[in-house]
Parts: sequence; structure tokens; C-alpha cells
Amino acid sequence: MNYVSTRGEAPDLNFEDVLLTGLARDGGLYVPQSAPALSTDGLAGLDYAGLAAAVLAPFVDDAMPRGDLERLTRDTYGVFDHAAIAPLKQIGPNDWLMELFHGPTLAFKDFALQALGRLFDHALKRRGERVTILGATSGDTGSAAIEGCRGRDAVDIFILFPKGRVSDVQRRQMTTVEDANVHAIAVDGDFDDCQALVKAAFGDLAFRDRMNLSAVNSINWARVAAQVVYYVHGVMALGAGRRPVAFSVPSGNFGNVFAGHIARRMGLPVDRLVVGANVNDILHRFFETGAYRRQGVVPTMSPSMDIQVASNFERLLYEITGRDGIRVRAMMDSLRQSGGFEIPPAALAQVQAGFASARIDEEETLAEMRRMHAETGEVLDPHTAVGTAAARKARAAGDVPAETPLISLATAHPAKFPDAVERAVGFRPALPERLGDLMERPERAADLPNDLAALQKFIGERARIAA
Ligand SMILES: *Cc1c(COP(=O)(O)O)cnc(C)c1O
Repeated sequence: MNYVSTRGEAPDLNFEDVLLTGLARDGGLYVPQSAPALSTDGLAGLDYAGLAAAVLAPFVDDAMPRGDLERLTRDTYGVFDHAAIAPLKQIGPNDWLMELFHGPTLAFKDFALQALGRLFDHALKRRGERVTILGATSGDTGSAAIEGCRGRDAVDIFILFPKGRVSDVQRRQMTTVEDANVHAIAVDGDFDDCQALVKAAFGDLAFRDRMNLSAVNSINWARVAAQVVYYVHGVMALGAGRRPVAFSVPSGNFGNVFAGHIARRMGLPVDRLVVGANVNDILHRFFETGAYRRQGVVPTMSPSMDIQVASNFERLLYEITGRDGIRVRAMMDSLRQSGGFEIPPAALAQVQAGFASARIDEEETLAEMRRMHAETGEVLDPHTAVGTAAARKARAAGDVPAETPLISLATAHPAKFPDAVERAVGFRPALPERLGDLMERPERAADLPNDLAALQKFIGERARIAA
């Protein structure tokens, strides 16, 4: 399987190189040359880890023997604390919740990042190499990346977070990890400062090469591929792989819902994909009007969806333009220079056949959490509530017919966002048993100023590759 850049000017790479490279050299995102066809014959009866190996196999291709891949997915999903890995719960006549929060950090990002850490380790050991992973987080991604990489021989991981601006649970999930290859760094600044530091470190090519810097951010294709699996799982569970199933997905960087689109492209009977947005609604405005325009970011109760532009969206644009890298580049230039671009009406109509969207404001999110608790007993985190509220709107608008099963993805455990849950339903949800002592565990984090030289010195002294 070859991978091509959405901007058409970077070399084609295989899975392993795409995994380790992340962003393409021309600034684009890697996508498979063609979506591999996946037959549902033979998938029935597989457990989650088996399904994961079957779905990932064509993407991984000859980068890894099938036996190694099977072992890897078994190891990956073995750390989840629910036997079904991604259990489905019925919440309405034909409506379901798929719980994607039974991994180590209680958010869906574990599905991809647990696999990614192991894929990195496998590839690097084979090559006899080491990497230094550097990233910035505003919350969920940092802890999930740390959990995926902790204790791995070939990987050191440095995660920057804005000091005093992530929740206690989120911070502790990063700072209480004891493994020596994990470095949580509290930066005196906000999330944009953290991200700018990371960019600057990657931009210093000598430093980048010396440390063999790598990223595990949401544009890494392997993350998208790992997320395809639970869409297949949902389609098999509710439709035996024959009846179409719709999904509603609370969305920020468009990585999660794009994986559903890939499942559909692989031939799975995925019906409408409903994109749920909070008030940072660039995606919703696009699916309504065809205009993709950036606006300022407003902080909400669902911080993992507080985005100005959706980084994975470029992959959809590549398809919309008929895989025209030149036009994708022009659109992204226009986004940077004049704040947006528009696609033609015919292209919009095509996109709307596959996607619906809804914008859910803060009041609606709280009302949805309250209603779901009263009607079904389910306590939702605010991200998940955006998704179920969007599902409700899509049903009402006729975007998803009553006879089509609709799965809303529950992307985080409610205990990750206790303040919002308390506001909605009046109590604070308990952390799952195995995280029960999180708030008492000793913390370990470095304090660094918002300064590139200080960050580089810190990494240079601690990354094992420098030794
Ligand atoms: C990251 C995240 C999202 C958004 O997912 P994207 O892939 O960025 O669209 C939604 N909910 C939670 C809890 C998240 O952590």
C-alpha cells in the first residue's frame, strides 16, 4: 500500500514511513493511494482485537507480518477495561451509544494512540532507531499519547501543556506517570504558546534531525486507520455488515468522523455521518454552506472540540477536488491568507449526501446531558452530549430515517469533565476504580518558560537519543 500527499509534491511512502513521518514534506497529509476494499465476510465472530487486525492489515500491508499485527492488536486492546472494548448501549428505539472511553485515559483517543505507541516501537526496533516524540496538548491528546508511549524502549516522549489551564484530571493523567521516558512539561503560557514552541522546535532542522523528532498528532494516518475499526465493529454489531448504520460523532479536528468516512469508502454500509460541533462550528458551517471560514475560538465545556480549523479536513478536500493536490494547496493558501474558501455547489451536494451536521451551543449541551440522564439514566460527558444532541437534530431533520440504526460515539468518560457534569445533573461522576487514586498520586512535571532555547536544552539533556 502506497500513500500519497494531499498536496501532491511529497514522495509516496509506505505505511511505516508514513507512520514515522506524520506531516508530509510538502505540508500535506498522507492518504492511501486508494481505499482498500474490505469484505464483511469473515468478520462476523471476530472479537475486537481480531477485527482490528483484519481492518488494519491492508493499510499496514507488508510493513508487518500478519502474526505480529495480530499480537499487536491483542496487546493494544488488552489494556482496555471492558470485555467488549467498545460496548454498545441502547438509548432509544433505534439509537445507540458506543462507549469509546474504556481505555487507560478515558477518551476515544486511546483507541488510536495505544496502537500507535506499539506500532512506533515495532517499526523502530526493526530499524534499530529511536525517536523523540514532541507534542503540545490542551487536554486529552497528551495523556493518551503518554499512555501509548510510556515504558517503550525506542521512544522518549515530551508533552507540553499550558500551566494552570488544563483540568486537574487531565494534568494528573500526564504528571503521575512514573516511566522515565515520559516528560510532562508545564509551560508558562497558553495552548497556542505550547503549539508555537513545538512548531519552532520542529522548524529547527538541525535539532529535529539530532533528536529524530516525531509527532503523534491527529494527522498521523495510523491514527485514522485505527479509528476505522470501531465503525466496522458498529456496522457488524447492528447490521451484521449488511444493513446500513449511521453514526453521530462529536467533532473537532475531523479525525474521528473521517475514519467513519474511510470505513464507508472501504465498502462498509455506513449511512450518514452526522458531524456534531459545539459553538466552534467551522465544520457545521461548511457542511451547511460549502464555505470553510476560520473564526476565533470560544472556550466551551467540550474543550477537545474548541478548534479554529480542523486539521484532518484537508483529507476530505483532497477527495472533493478529485485528488487534485494543486487545488488543495490553493485552498489551504487561501485559508491562511484570507481566512477561508468555498467549494462549488455540485461538490457541496455530493458532500451533503454523505455527511449531515449540527451545531450545539452550551445551553443545548447542558439540556442534552440533563435529558439523557432523566430519560435513560446515562451520564454523558459534554463532548458526547454534543454528539447525541446532533443525532437528535439529524433524526428530526430527516437526515437519518427512523429505520436506520444510529450510533452516537461516546468519546469521553463523564468523570473526565466533572464540573460540566455537575452543572448539568447536579453530581460529580466517580472515576473508574483503576483510576480511583489519581488525585492522590505524586505528580512530576517540569516547569519551563515560554522559550525555545530552554525547551531544546531540556530535551537535549533528557532524550536518550542524545546520550
Ligand atoms: C479529541 C476529542 C474529540 C474530537 O475528535 P476529532 O477527531 O478531533 O474530531 C471529541 N471528543 C473528545 C472527548 C476528544 O478527546
